[in-house]
Amino acid sequence: MRPVIDGHNDVLSHLHENDAPDDALLREDTATVTVPRAKQGGFAAGMFAVLPPPPHFDEMTRTAGGYDIPYSPIVPWEESARTVGALAARLFRLLDACDGQIRLIRGIDDLDACLAGDSLGVVFHFEGAEPIDEDLDALEVWYAAGLRSLGPVWSRQNAFAHGVPFRYPSSPDTGPGLTDAGVRLVKRCAELGIAIDLSHLNAAGFWDVARHLDAPLVASHSCVSAICPTARNLTDDQLDAIASSGGLVGINFDVGSLRADGADDGDTPLSAIAEHARYIADRCGVDHIALGSDFDGATMPQDVPDASAYQGVLAALEAAGFESDEVDRIAWRNWRRVLAAAWG
Ligand code: ZN
Repeated sequence: MRPVIDGHNDVLSHLHENDAPDDALLREDTATVTVPRAKQGGFAAGMFAVLPPPPHFDEMTRTAGGYDIPYSPIVPWEESARTVGALAARLFRLLDACDGQIRLIRGIDDLDACLAGDSLGVVFHFEGAEPIDEDLDALEVWYAAGLRSLGPVWSRQNAFAHGVPFRYPSSPDTGPGLTDAGVRLVKRCAELGIAIDLSHLNAAGFWDVARHLDAPLVASHSCVSAICPTARNLTDDQLDAIASSGGLVGINFDVGSLRADGADDGDTPLSAIAEHARYIADRCGVDHIALGSDFDGATMPQDVPDASAYQGVLAALEAAGFESDEVDRIAWRNWRRVLAAAWG
């Protein structure tokens, strides 16, 4: 079975909201990603997001041919620091309680051990930098605690950047770019060895990161705007920039990001994932495609309800004409290359 590295899940938030026991991930069905499901699906390692705090969705407005969800409110630093502290504490208790079956990934050696089947690898990821002060002191502390991947912002505004709203159809060009603090954040992450994630950034923020980051560009859970024009997806010029930097796109399994009609409908075939992969392959090459499921954070296609089903996604890629070596790259090798570069 091929190992899989996956760019995004919201399992920690799910466990926290359900007040799950510390060893919940050892049980079969406490979350979409559990140790038994990971073993079944070949899931070796992935970014486990801490969203500070979980999203607050206001009523969606139906528009002609689409939808528009109001921009999420700004989260005060104190509230965010409290939430992230609680979620991180949950992660560390979970690592303790799971008796070596889950490993916190601090570097490429840990990732390689997980790829070899030793344990399920957790890359500690912030989906939004709200808990970090503008002097970036907290960034050092969180790095020491194991933070290895960070998206400057979720789909809202913070001290560092502006996220894209959830809107269809829409270009990602929805507002201003990084603040001065955002530029300093990106540069400091690169120095420390924390991967920067472009998913949820608006277009101006994306291009600011591209200008200031001397590392492969990563969008951990996004799809192709030319197929599904949500504001969250990537335009052709963004795909080109990611490819020329040596980076990658983790294709999101979220049906609303995959489907041409943008509908939140789980009756979506796995070939939809392959269609986005084929578009990027034809335009940029297979080295810039990876997976970024968004498990526990979005509506999945019915044939990939949880981590036990990754091999079905890989089979759909083969059915769409990707060769065995190309599927290896999409499944794990591209993520390994890019994370090795980011972590130095
Ligand atoms: Zn997300």
